[in-house]
Amino acid sequence: MKRRDFIKVSSFATIGIGLGINSVFASDSKKDILPKKSTRVVVIGGGFGGSTAAKNIKMLDPKIEVVLIDQNDIFYSCPMSNHVIVGMSHIKEIAFKYDNLQKKYGIKFLKKEVIEIDGNSKKVFFADGYLSYDMLVVSPGIGFKYDDNIGYTKDVPKILPHAWKAGEQTLKLNSMLKELPKGGSVLLRVPKAPYRCPPGPYERASLIAWYLKKFKPGSKLIVIDANEDIASKTKLFKAAFSELYSGVLEYIPDVEVQGIDANKKYIKTSKGDFTADVINYVPDQKANESAFKFGLVPEGKLWAFVDAWTLESTQIKDVYVIGDSANRGSFGTVPHSGYIANSMGKVAADAVIAKLKGIKSPRPFMINTCYSMVSDEEAIWIATVYEYDDVKNLTVQVGNAGGIPEKRGKIDKEHQYSWANAIWSDTFM
Ligand SMILES: Cc1cc2nc3c(=O)[nH]c(=O)nc-3n(C[C@H](O)[C@H](O)[C@H](O)COP(=O)(O)OP(=O)(O)OC[C@H]3O[C@@H](n4cnc5c(N)ncnc54)[C@H](O)[C@@H]3O)c2cc1C
Repeated sequence: MKRRDFIKVSSFATIGIGLGINSVFASDSKKDILPKKSTRVVVIGGGFGGSTAAKNIKMLDPKIEVVLIDQNDIFYSCPMSNHVIVGMSHIKEIAFKYDNLQKKYGIKFLKKEVIEIDGNSKKVFFADGYLSYDMLVVSPGIGFKYDDNIGYTKDVPKILPHAWKAGEQTLKLNSMLKELPKGGSVLLRVPKAPYRCPPGPYERASLIAWYLKKFKPGSKLIVIDANEDIASKTKLFKAAFSELYSGVLEYIPDVEVQGIDANKKYIKTSKGDFTADVINYVPDQKANESAFKFGLVPEGKLWAFVDAWTLESTQIKDVYVIGDSANRGSFGTVPHSGYIANSMGKVAADAVIAKLKGIKSPRPFMINTCYSMVSDEEAIWIATVYEYDDVKNLTVQVGNAGGIPEKRGKIDKEHQYSWANAIWSDTFM
């Protein structure tokens, strides 16, 4: 029996038969790697959601011990990673360490992979030990839907990169584009919504088309979209595709992938078969596998369900799930984005502090602002404000707050860089 299964049973059984779950885990002979001396909040995942939560909890109450855990000690930002793919930016510009969070705010950082959590004994487990918590925030990001039926296995991204988690995959796609011969072909597959960053694939399509036009004359990009239409900033992307990249970019909507042969670089679909020199296959998505392992995703579901006001898990008490892994239907009409993960980090920080003090947390309020480059000179954007609605019991869009521009603009390119610096600073510095 896996520990998670045991927890499900034990939560009904332990009190009655007097068998504390700790007594079972004591036999695990794992060591407490950082004995808890005061109130402690542990945060799993040092990306946009987790780092923001850790920083804001510490800012709200510096006496609380905050331990931030990530399996990596460098975080690569997906926002602006499309620039790196086409050589407009260097990978160093999207790389962040946790030094500032440690030095400026006194957050403890651990480079470790959490393999399990136990909501009864309030512990998170690593391969070599455990850590106790009073409150736990989990922000592990996105996971991919592997599907043997169509041949999309865990090995496929080694040949056909998704570059939907930044870092190694970003650099791989960048070097494949560099090696592409003039007159070559690129195929980009857009996943079925919901997925991380709705405009992200179309920004990538624009920038790859820009790159081909400038550096690889005669080359062509085919975009096959699992959705019926461009899923975000639709009119603006359509205008960019037709006005800037006619003859370079071909967009095909509503494409169902039926088979993939990665070695042959071959994709069979409902709209015909495709081969290309470079295939950037972005798979369909779900909550990160850690959210499943931790027991935060209800049976038969794909995302972690949370309370709409506090973002506390519906599955495990005193555990808050934020960022891309959280189920939108359970708390709001927001996209899976870094800006929203940052907003959720603040909502969860308030909720955690309020719970520790035994008071009600403030009304949830979130913002999303997102820029997309459509060439080396011009960008487009969208901004939306969200607030908790008492009738719907969800965090929903506030009337006309926010907006979208009439057309792409040069000034918006400058604003995109300011936007990125601001969100990175608010999250990591
Ligand atoms: C190409 C692209 C462009 C994008 N552009 C934008 C944009 O312009 N604006 C915007 O708002 N959003 C953008 N996004 C979306 C944004 O990147 C995500 O929505 C955001 O990163 C989600 O934050 P998160 O905290 O949920 O996950 P992440 O930021 O991915 O952080 C998750 C962290 O958890 C860690 N982790 C996972 N499991 C464990 C474990 N078991 N133990 C320890 N650590 C663990 C991971 O290592 C990772 O560091 C873009 C995405 C892509 C792919």
